[in-house]
Amino acid sequence: MLFVLLIMSGKLDSFSPSSGMEACLSLERELDKLLVRFEGVKDQGLGLLDNVIKDIKGLQEQLSTVPEDQLLTKDQAEVVKETMCKAKTSLAKFAGDHRELHSALSKYGKLIDRNFVADYAATSRPNIFNNPDKVNLINKIICQHYHRQGMHDVAEALAEETDVQCEFTEKESFGELNHILDCLRNKDLEPALAWATAHSQALDNISSTLEFKLHRLKYIELLSKGTHYQTDAITYARNHFRKFVKQHEKDIQVLMGMLLYIPNGIGTSPYSCLVSEELWVDTYELFTRDACQLMGITVHSPLAICLNAGCAAIPALLNIKQVMMQRQVGPMWNGKDELPIEIDLGPDSRYHSMFACPILRQQSTKGNPPMRLVCGHVISRDALSKLCNGNKMKCPYCPVEQSPGDARFVIF
Ligand SMILES: [Zn+2]
Repeated sequence: MLFVLLIMSGKLDSFSPSSGMEACLSLERELDKLLVRFEGVKDQGLGLLDNVIKDIKGLQEQLSTVPEDQLLTKDQAEVVKETMCKAKTSLAKFAGDHRELHSALSKYGKLIDRNFVADYAATSRPNIFNNPDKVNLINKIICQHYHRQGMHDVAEALAEETDVQCEFTEKESFGELNHILDCLRNKDLEPALAWATAHSQALDNISSTLEFKLHRLKYIELLSKGTHYQTDAITYARNHFRKFVKQHEKDIQVLMGMLLYIPNGIGTSPYSCLVSEELWVDTYELFTRDACQLMGITVHSPLAICLNAGCAAIPALLNIKQVMMQRQVGPMWNGKDELPIEIDLGPDSRYHSMFACPILRQQSTKGNPPMRLVCGHVISRDALSKLCNGNKMKCPYCPVEQSPGDARFVIF
């Protein structure tokens, strides 16, 4: 698990020069070298053993001709001595090579230890799960993750063992969602269409175009089958597009234009982009997003989001920890609600707005909220009190003179 985490952290890391991925690659290079040595020692050892066996067999044959009651001649005794000596030298060499290999192998273990950080203490808050509510929350998230993966039996077992109460019928929701998405992946539109039809009103309420897009795919599917299905396509359009005329007039005109190209094939017509794989991918994503919204579940698993965010953040945090230790600036960070450096996880991981004070270069907190000055500029409350001169202050940006009491809280 840790290894996987390290590999993942390496992949996502663009901050630390000695990243996890680099460590993996350098270890792999060393491993390759070690394997080449292993092969070399093995081949050489087998050759040596073969020679020793051959020599001994030759000696055996030679001696078998000597009658039992006869002593060896001087030459024969010399041959025995020589063979024994050669065998001893060969085996000693083999043992020596093996010993060297063993020491290289044990060094590799140390290399693994050296290349990976084992101490994550500085990046974690050990007390975070002391609170039963938080333990319950993490168990719930894990349960939900298993339901999402379709592993309902595991999720149920965990829920039973940890006393987790599911707020909604997760099994049914994820089961239905996964089934529909599986079918969509296999280009079977029926379950998705049935779902969208059943939730037509709710989809309308969130201004979703899902239902129309599913019908559009079905219509294009009929058109793509050729001239025999032309009437079916027209009937389908008549039956299903009417309610979307107002909202998708242009799209429907395009879909009707496609009819002209049935005899020669849509794929070579100006409408070829409408029979591309992309349309399926887009509809798949749209279904996931809108269905999740209606079912009240997040599109991505909260557990996966946390894990990915952690993998992206840990290398940078470990790096800053090392720098802080080298410069002896004390503990990692005191206000544990705030990270010592900004870590950008990308636009996909932004869930709410935040404010960083342009004067103090700090993210605003509950204790130090953003304040809007009379001139419209916004700075943090700590910055505001630092800039106060008696009952007056000058905005550091415009600079309009004003009373600090006129500044207003800004709530994001
Ligand atoms: Zn101003």
